[in-house]
Amino acid sequence: MESPIADNLSRVNERIRLAEKRYRRPPGEVRLLAVSKTRSPEEILAAAACGQRHFGENYLQEALEKIARLEGHPLCWHFIGPIQSNKTRAIASHFHWVHSVDRLKIARRLSDQRPSGLPPLDICLQVNISGETSKSGIGLAELPEIARQVAELPRLRLRGLMAIPRRCSDFAQQRLPFRRLREALHALNEAGAGLDTLSMGMSADMEAAIAEGATIVRIGTDIFGPRD
Ligand SMILES: *Cc1c(COP(=O)(O)O)cnc(C)c1O
Repeated sequence: MESPIADNLSRVNERIRLAEKRYRRPPGEVRLLAVSKTRSPEEILAAAACGQRHFGENYLQEALEKIARLEGHPLCWHFIGPIQSNKTRAIASHFHWVHSVDRLKIARRLSDQRPSGLPPLDICLQVNISGETSKSGIGLAELPEIARQVAELPRLRLRGLMAIPRRCSDFAQQRLPFRRLREALHALNEAGAGLDTLSMGMSADMEAAIAEGATIVRIGTDIFGPRD
C-alpha cells in the first residue's frame, strides 16, 4: 500500500499556510515539527523525502536508535519529552533543540554537558500555562527568574517558550492558554530577553496556536496517523 505520509504532510503544510494567512502571520513564519515518536526510521524517511527536516522525539532510547540509523540525512532533531537528570548528557550530545526544559537544574546540566564541538543547544522553557493535569512545566510566577538564569548559561541559547495545554475541542477555549503563553513571552521580551520562539499547537489545536502566535507547531497524528 502507498504510504499516506506524503499526502498527510502536504495537507498539514497547507493548513499551516492557510492559518498564517487568516491570522495575518507573515508567510512562512510557522515551522512544522513532525513528531515522530513511536514511528519507524522508514516513516521518517518518507517524510524527509517530501522535504520535512525537523523531527520531534519524546523517548530518549528510541530516539537515539533512530538518530543513529538516520545519520547522514540532513535532519534536525528536537527533544520534546519529559527529561530526567540522568538523560541530559545524551540529549545534549545528540539533539539540536530541546523544548521541554522545565527546571533550572536540567538547564544547567544541558549547558555543562553540551559538547564543545557543537554550537550552543537551542532550548525552550516548558511552561505550565493552564494548571494542566500533567504537573510538568514552570509556573508563570517563577518564569521570569528562571528565564533570567537560563539565559546566562553559556552552552544554551534560550529561544522561547513551550506549552502543552489540556485538550479541549472549542476553538475559542483552545486559544486562551496559547494567548497566555504569548503574553508570557511578550513580558520576557519587554524585559530584554530577545526570544523568538513559541512552540505550541498539536494536531487537534494547531490553528488556535497559530492564531495566537505559534512559531513552531508540533504535529504527530495528522502526519503519521494515529499512534497505537
Ligand atoms: C505527541 C506529542 C505531540 C504531537 O501530538 P499529536 O496530537 O499526535 O499531533 C506534540 N507535542 C508533544 C510534547 C507530544 O508529546
